[in-house]
Amino acid sequence: MSRLIVLSNRIPTEAEPAGGLVVALHECLMRQGGIWIGSSAEPQDVAHEELTEIGSGPYRRLAFDLSHEEHENFYLGYANSVLWPLFHRRSDLIAFDAAYAEAYAAVNARVARLLAQVIRPGDLVWVHDYHFLPVARALRALGVANRIGFFLHTPFPLAADIPALPERDEFPEWLAAFDLVGLQTERDVSALQEHFRADPAAIFDLEGGVHTAHGSFLAAAFPIGIDVESFIAQAEASDGAERLALAPDQRLLIGVDRLDYSKGIVNRFEAFGAYLADRPEDAPRATLIQIAPPSRAELEAYREIRTELETTAGALNGAYAELDWTPIRYIRRNVQRERLAGLYRRANAALVTPLADGMNLVAKEYVAAQDPDDPGVLILSHFAGAAEQMGGALLVNPYDTGEMARAIAAALEMPLADRRARHAGMMEELLARDISWWTESFLSTLARQTHRAAAE
Ligand code: UDP
Repeated sequence: MSRLIVLSNRIPTEAEPAGGLVVALHECLMRQGGIWIGSSAEPQDVAHEELTEIGSGPYRRLAFDLSHEEHENFYLGYANSVLWPLFHRRSDLIAFDAAYAEAYAAVNARVARLLAQVIRPGDLVWVHDYHFLPVARALRALGVANRIGFFLHTPFPLAADIPALPERDEFPEWLAAFDLVGLQTERDVSALQEHFRADPAAIFDLEGGVHTAHGSFLAAAFPIGIDVESFIAQAEASDGAERLALAPDQRLLIGVDRLDYSKGIVNRFEAFGAYLADRPEDAPRATLIQIAPPSRAELEAYREIRTELETTAGALNGAYAELDWTPIRYIRRNVQRERLAGLYRRANAALVTPLADGMNLVAKEYVAAQDPDDPGVLILSHFAGAAEQMGGALLVNPYDTGEMARAIAAALEMPLADRRARHAGMMEELLARDISWWTESFLSTLARQTHRAAAE
């Protein structure tokens, strides 16, 4: 069996709770042997041209340094102020700075040099996410002929938005240097194909192959799943619900998101406000718990969305709270996944309403955590990748506050038989394509790609 070399932005440490993806990759590495490479936890004064061994274990974990300047320009800059907004349809938020592109190219070139030192013939290389789009091209230039796969966890950008990328001419070359480009949904595969159609020389085959002057690769959808069984067990064991101290008949809605402008949390609060405004006096009270741990707080766009969110929550609570009821409970702190599982199970509905999202694992976790005899309802944005699989959700347009308010009312009134049928359909899909299915299908597809000739 081929060794596996995983490249991702961060290497998980023992100190952090492991999510489904981390556990799944860990299992692959245990089985196949290999190396996990990512950036060190803290930026350094100088980024040395070497990999540092982290801890010990059944497979190697190696870290590369980022200097403080690279953290600014590569990570916060190009990755999260150029690519992230572009890929989430927010070209208006792109920050243009030549230093960003320079750092992105330099870090990818260094990571490629470091990778080339540890890759052996026959190894499968799996690159994760938008931080490393050019790394395969850099590896090919160094003569690395191994199979290299890429998985994009975010949406693929719309063809009409790509001209906003300063490196728009290089972008297709970056992708064409991989052997396999894995995307979350069929919709993303179509977006990629549409982008490559602009190249008159590109040829597409029926299997998803894209053949260009810069190389041939397969583009296919591998919707990421969760570890369903362990999530069910966590939900059954969790003390999350008791901690809420809610009356048993109190209706509960839940939202769980990293605090990001792509998650549509302000629109969601406004929709809940519209629901509260229309709600008859005698209807049962509903509380929305929103868990939103901050991320990328150094960036202005993230500070702005936080202020907007807090203003909206404060205004709505001011308008609708009563002495014994706070409609929105907003928690700006990370909540452990085991505890989340219990909160999901207690919630009558989940509001998963991003404006753009690669997949959205919270949608899947919410469904897995439900009691099959009395399940809650998933309210899901059309713009989450999960919408392609989760037909049993109430699908909504997150920009349409009135439609979302009506979905909240419908979810809270939905008869048990309807809730059960929707939940059962979604569980079937979750079990069929869980996280092990995802790693196995991606890696077996990558292993089937024809070997490239070494670059001259
Ligand atoms: N999560 C968590 N605690 C929190 C908030 C989120 O453990 O306080 C987890 C959540 O359970 C999910 C992940 O973080 O597994 C978020 O993944 P998702 O795909 O929904 O969004 P992303 O943050 O990757 O954009």
